Amino acid sequence: MISSEKALALVLSHSSKGFRTREISLSDALDYVLAADVISLIDMPPFRQSAMDGYALKIGETNSYKILGEVQAGGVNSLQLNKGEAVRIFTGAPVPDTADAVVIQEKVRLKADTILVEDPLQLMMNIRPQGEQIKKAAVALAKGTSIKGTHIGFLAGLGITRIEVAEKPAIAVVVTGNELVPAGQDLAHGKIYESNSAMLIAVLKELGYSNTTVISIKDHFESTKEALRETIEKNDVVIVTGGVSVGDYDFVGKALNAIGVHEIFHKVNQKPGKPMYFGKKEHTAIFGLPGNPAAALTCFYVYVYPLLKKYQGAEDAHLLTILLPLLNDYTVIGGDRAQFLKAKISGTGVEILTGQSSAMLSAFGTANAFVFVPEDRIKLEKGEIVKTILLPIK
Ligand code: AMP
Ligand code: MG
Repeated sequence: MISSEKALALVLSHSSKGFRTREISLSDALDYVLAADVISLIDMPPFRQSAMDGYALKIGETNSYKILGEVQAGGVNSLQLNKGEAVRIFTGAPVPDTADAVVIQEKVRLKADTILVEDPLQLMMNIRPQGEQIKKAAVALAKGTSIKGTHIGFLAGLGITRIEVAEKPAIAVVVTGNELVPAGQDLAHGKIYESNSAMLIAVLKELGYSNTTVISIKDHFESTKEALRETIEKNDVVIVTGGVSVGDYDFVGKALNAIGVHEIFHKVNQKPGKPMYFGKKEHTAIFGLPGNPAAALTCFYVYVYPLLKKYQGAEDAHLLTILLPLLNDYTVIGGDRAQFLKAKISGTGVEILTGQSSAMLSAFGTANAFVFVPEDRIKLEKGEIVKTILLPIK
């Protein structure tokens, strides 16, 4: 059985490279990945800008300056200053070319049309030089960047309205199981409400993927085969939950094999998620995740999300991993496999949560990380440093 590290490396090495690109409006760009460098069309700031409300002045021999006029934000500076002269100025206003410092209004004494400057002056103080943030024609944002709100603000500030991004993948979530009933219907004995599709579609949406469809199939070989064949043809990424293990009614692996999907691995030495399957057919990536909801979500974060990022050409597809002191003692159950334990990072370290069962989602409600425990570790002690993987959650 392969290790989780090896499994992730295989998943990433098989993510599609030739993704389609398209130009979109900056306002629609959230969570897309840049497919080309964005070049700044202007210097930012576009002119010498006052960083404060105060007085722009040309440094003279005495601390007394004569006020010639005023420049507001959005105004024009046509005033010529000689040594010992100043203009009233406001934050964001263009500093007159002849001024060499801005003194803040709290540091002057105003007497009629003159100010007395109290503190020593330095050349260029409180003046933002033209192009200080970025120069015209420089790379504003590099190809491979995942666009967040801050990037949209930065590019909007450069006057950019359209950018080239990677198309997001079309994703299908396929749920399997004769016991599954949609919420809202009566629950006969032996049945359970189907929840993986609602969970995965919502989590995908939270991560910026809304080009999704849900398919429900029964534990039946022929119908599993047909449904998977059609779904794989129509999508870039297929996420199957359930039916991937070794039970008599687990048909996913066999069906994928029968329709010519190339199996890259089936089973990973980890808990939860041991039965996990990963394969490819042409450009489509196919995941078989365990049916238990918490196991499915763990495998989703650990493997599927990095693949989706890589698929779009993201510079770094890995979840952020840090080392933190453990806040509680913890005894691992079933230490023969590496474990992804739901955990909560707080100000002083990370706590492994109670309720690690694959069937129980409750711990995910408070978790913001996994503590990764290598195989053969049983007793973890409070204070020891543990590998902590941050969940990509809001
Ligand atoms: P399986 O991986 O098919 O053996 O399923 C493992 C467990 O997960 C079983 O208890 C299933 O009933 C449950 N399960 C499978 N699929 C879902 C689903 N879509 N929603 C909720 N529970 C599920
Ligand atoms: Mg099943």
